[in-house]
Amino acid sequence: VDVAVIGGGPAGSTAARLLADWGHSVAIITRPPPRPALAESLPPSSLRLLEYLGWRPLVDAAGFIRSTGNTYIWDSREADTGLAMRQATFGGMERGYQLDRAVFNDLLLAEAVRHGARLIDHATVVSVNAGVVAYRQSDGDHTVWARWVLDCSGRAGVVARLGWRRPLPRLRTLAIAAVWEHADGWPHIDPTHTVVESHRDGWAWSIPTSPTQRHVTMMLDPRLTSIATRQALREAYLGALDATPGMRGLTEGARLTGDPFARDASPYAAHQVAAPNLLLVGDAASFVDPLSSYGVKKALASAWLAAVVAHTCLEDARMLRHALAFYDARERAMFESLERQRAQLAHAALAGDARSAFWEERAEADALALASPNEDREIESLRGDREVLAAFEELKRRERIVLRHAATVERVEQPLVRGNRIVLETHLRSPQLPFAVRFARQVDLLRLWHLAPSAAEVPELYEAYQRVAGVVPLPDFLGALSLLIGKGFLVFA
Ligand SMILES: Cc1cc2nc3c(=O)[nH]c(=O)nc-3n(C[C@H](O)[C@H](O)[C@H](O)COP(=O)(O)OP(=O)(O)OC[C@H]3O[C@@H](n4cnc5c(N)ncnc54)[C@H](O)[C@@H]3O)c2cc1C
Repeated sequence: VDVAVIGGGPAGSTAARLLADWGHSVAIITRPPPRPALAESLPPSSLRLLEYLGWRPLVDAAGFIRSTGNTYIWDSREADTGLAMRQATFGGMERGYQLDRAVFNDLLLAEAVRHGARLIDHATVVSVNAGVVAYRQSDGDHTVWARWVLDCSGRAGVVARLGWRRPLPRLRTLAIAAVWEHADGWPHIDPTHTVVESHRDGWAWSIPTSPTQRHVTMMLDPRLTSIATRQALREAYLGALDATPGMRGLTEGARLTGDPFARDASPYAAHQVAAPNLLLVGDAASFVDPLSSYGVKKALASAWLAAVVAHTCLEDARMLRHALAFYDARERAMFESLERQRAQLAHAALAGDARSAFWEERAEADALALASPNEDREIESLRGDREVLAAFEELKRRERIVLRHAATVERVEQPLVRGNRIVLETHLRSPQLPFAVRFARQVDLLRLWHLAPSAAEVPELYEAYQRVAGVVPLPDFLGALSLLIGKGFLVFA
């Protein structure tokens, strides 16, 4: 086949469906995920991505509970003293999804097959060697030969574990989940909300899967909790429930429908996620603490880009080096930004209880992740840059602008995504920035740079830009123009 996809989770199904749609022969080799399935929350910010990937009608039709927000208890002492939980409603009419992961997985996988991917199910991949994927089924061992292999096997990391994975031992986390049934529903909270509560030695969350059923999950540090037996697991769960008064209150009058079950939720990263004809995708590449609620979204985004990379290289092998470097940088950037968000949430929890070793360790972001260069982050941080702000003030002050191209600007070819291909396109480089730029927010800096000298006023330039490049919000346009001036791409004549 053109592409062997190992694992039929959200990442695997997404990559397989896209590649099949783009005309490639694809095999998904997968085994059933662990049962019972978790309940997971998808934030409203995932909607656009689901839409873009073509998953939205399917997910909408599945009838998942649509969440209207989150309820936080970031300091459990509040619940002790009877203070109300804090409710945060999503902005506008936004709604997230409360997923039963078993249903979600099955939907996506079936659709990938409907789009032409070949499913090799109940198969465990045991090795990958130069495109030969060996797997085991009940009737024996088999192989598939593939031009590209995508490791979408999640935490199992069939390829990822062969020296690519970088554990983050100080963030080890064990999730113990259980399903609760309350015949009358959940009287004190918004029934659609995810409820999140921190305590000194961990945190807990609860996600509804029906009006009467909720998963209530305890996140613990496995170094501090022994779970050698089923009984010990149950005791650890009930002990943690006891330490979270909000969750305890939530489950009062409810019935535990089965034994608590455990999942490793420890974060990890990777030294490298791309090699010739091989990519680590989704959780196989990295895992961010579930506190961020972005695991599935990250897996979908990663799968889309992996499909674009494989498609590009299958069509034009000369793009290999650029495509791999692009994928590696993007995956790193995504992990890094989620890692920083996670550390900020841990900071908030630490503020609630300053004596907590659990939160203190988690309040620091992964040092290696933060040390790596990240163009997206740099561009975002330019919004507060002194020279860019000075340029913005100057633009406001001047009635007329006469701009010319700075003589020191260089044009360089660098990769970006156009449709379903990675292509080399012109970027601009200035001695005042350590990286070349092409887009800032939605603004095409190259086009703006070309047009700028021909306009005499900012409104005229804004109109001229939109005529050729399409509508962009005025603040983004002004930010982009200020960047070009502040960082020496354009100078006032
Ligand atoms: C406790 C917990 C709570 C979470 N909560 C949320 C949440 O609320 N929101 C959110 O967005 N994310 C959440 N996540 C993260 C989310 O589950 C993952 O990010 C997401 O499942 C990643 O998708 P994936 O396709 O990369 O991997 P997976 O979903 O793990 O899929 C991997 C697939 O590969 C298969 N596989 C594994 N090994 C092999 C093998 N050797 N051969 C063949 N097949 C194999 C597996 O059976 C599985 O089907 C949570 C995770 C945990 C642990």
